Amino acid sequence: MPMRAIDIGHDQDLSAGRNRLLDACFLGPYGENDALLEKLVVEFLRDHVYWRRNFHPEDPPAISTAAAQHPEYLAFEARMRRELHQLSAALKKSVPFHSPRYIGHMASDLLLPGLVAQILTLPYNPNNVSEDAAPVTVDLEVKVGLQLAGMIGYTNDPQRHDCAFGHLTSGGTLANYQALRLALAQKAFPVALVAAGLPDLELPDDAWSAFNLHPHAATALVDAWQQWLAQAAPPDRRRWQARVRDERIEQRGLADFFATHASLKVPKVLAPVTAHYSWSKGCKLLGLGRSQLEMLPERGMRIDVDVLDEALDRCRRERQPVLMAVAVMGTTEYGTIDPIDAVVAARERSSARGLGFAVHVDAAWGGYLATLFRNEDGSLRPREEIAEGFSTFPSPAVHAAIDALGDTDSVTIDPHKLGYLPYGAGAFICRDHRTVALLAEEADYVFHGEAPKDYMRRYRNLGQFIPEGSKSGAAAAGVYVTHKVLPLDHAHFGLLPAQTIHSAEAFHARALRFADELQGVVHAIVPFAPDSNLVCFALNPVGNRCVATASEFVRRLHDELRSDPARPLQVKQFFGSVTTLRPDVLGETETRRIFDAIGLDATTLAEDAGDRLVILRHTLMNPYLIDQENGISYIDCYFEHLGARVRALLATE
Ligand SMILES: *Cc1c(COP(=O)(O)O)cnc(C)c1O
Repeated sequence: MPMRAIDIGHDQDLSAGRNRLLDACFLGPYGENDALLEKLVVEFLRDHVYWRRNFHPEDPPAISTAAAQHPEYLAFEARMRRELHQLSAALKKSVPFHSPRYIGHMASDLLLPGLVAQILTLPYNPNNVSEDAAPVTVDLEVKVGLQLAGMIGYTNDPQRHDCAFGHLTSGGTLANYQALRLALAQKAFPVALVAAGLPDLELPDDAWSAFNLHPHAATALVDAWQQWLAQAAPPDRRRWQARVRDERIEQRGLADFFATHASLKVPKVLAPVTAHYSWSKGCKLLGLGRSQLEMLPERGMRIDVDVLDEALDRCRRERQPVLMAVAVMGTTEYGTIDPIDAVVAARERSSARGLGFAVHVDAAWGGYLATLFRNEDGSLRPREEIAEGFSTFPSPAVHAAIDALGDTDSVTIDPHKLGYLPYGAGAFICRDHRTVALLAEEADYVFHGEAPKDYMRRYRNLGQFIPEGSKSGAAAAGVYVTHKVLPLDHAHFGLLPAQTIHSAEAFHARALRFADELQGVVHAIVPFAPDSNLVCFALNPVGNRCVATASEFVRRLHDELRSDPARPLQVKQFFGSVTTLRPDVLGETETRRIFDAIGLDATTLAEDAGDRLVILRHTLMNPYLIDQENGISYIDCYFEHLGARVRALLATE
């Protein structure tokens, strides 16, 4: 499709300033920054080689300087080249995440600082399982935890006893699993203390109250226990350590623990229906069972706090413990942000009535949006100030949600999503590091009076605490360097999410205009006002009432918008994605609102034709969707393309 220059109607001065900084951030859609990337990679590859040579320069080269002439060497090199060429050729079928024509899933270009830091670290091959295998990068990982903690408003001064702690994972899925693991350890530990009957601590009266403490109270107990151990005489310490360990849920296993404490049931996880399927995986993996995961209906794809309150009341009546309530910051399908403040308030109310639980925020997608809300000193920016330059962002609800992040118990954030970093980088962060000791494999080491007091030293044996074992130090280096080059505040990293919000607002406005322009042809709406940078679009040909037909129509539109390994990449104009609207998730009112708006009859929802409506979904995270340099809006181009496809599809029917 030929590109036309258009008036993109932006404040040129403002955007010019912004773009100059972002200019050097990425390799760029056209590979514009190839010289910069190449220079850096070569420079640091050489640097690595000098490091090898300078280790013991007196050692002669072990590979003969004539080796490269040997036929076997040459044959190996030829084979290697052949395979690499084949790989490189095959990879040309990859999804062009870097292109502003890609508005499908949560992927985009990679930030150069992170990419180069990772490439330069790879040949050193650090393993962040422990400092023995990663003397440098394990520290960087712990520091990344502190950087992210600051971004969400947790205390991140390692001198403070209640400092937060965070680490990287392979992705959000593992981070969510770690959240479940820590919440369960923290919930069940007071029960072990009560069962062991340590006389010197002030303990809850019974197993029920021990199991249902406010997370802060549970943390205080863990802390008190650690302090008691530190001052106990060694024989006492060992004896009590063994007694408490034998009562712990991690030692006994779920079956034995709950058989012993007949007043306790396996706790539930309350999550919104929009929650990612990693929560289902996590409940299975931890052995809680999928049926302990209660998916709560939402309102406008955001947690309905009344429903949460009702669920908590019911749990209290039925003496059903709750492990955690999950709030989502940036739902995977709709980009909506749950009222985190209200979920925290529900935790306070419920805990006061004897049913405590942890609040975890799944911000795998939306976590980095918090940078927009932070001043350089870490304080929260007022809503009015953030709102300058946007048309509706951030809504008061979104601002309140982000303000409450610091009061939650743990958070998942994916640097490999809105952090624009290579895969293998998720993160788990908890508000107070003191309970992390409960996860340690060698309890003796951590609970021993000799456990390192120094925060950084304590976490150098990361493998003790994380769900994984060996893992990439290079990934940690990439995240760390990125956060140093682009600090996690609005004036630095925040420029990126700001750009995505601008794009989403432009996209939303253009979508409404599209709906207007194609009035007699299709009904089209944006079903949920976007909270952030994901925008969905529901379409139905005029005259059609049947849900299955509308879904089929959108599927055919999407066939044009997805990667197809059988066809050359270049025939694709744009990449989008789809999701579905399910009446059982939406609820009756919302289903009626959306279906009415696009002329669909909900009674045509047939089980066999799929009980859901397929809609288009767009992730607006590419920084170059509005190309200031050439005056091209890829958003406009997309809608022109979509309009042409809609007309073409309908013409063939
Ligand atoms: C992507 C995502 C996950 C899973 O993260 P992975 O990195 O894919 O494992 C979990 N929750 C939400 C809200 C997500 O968007």
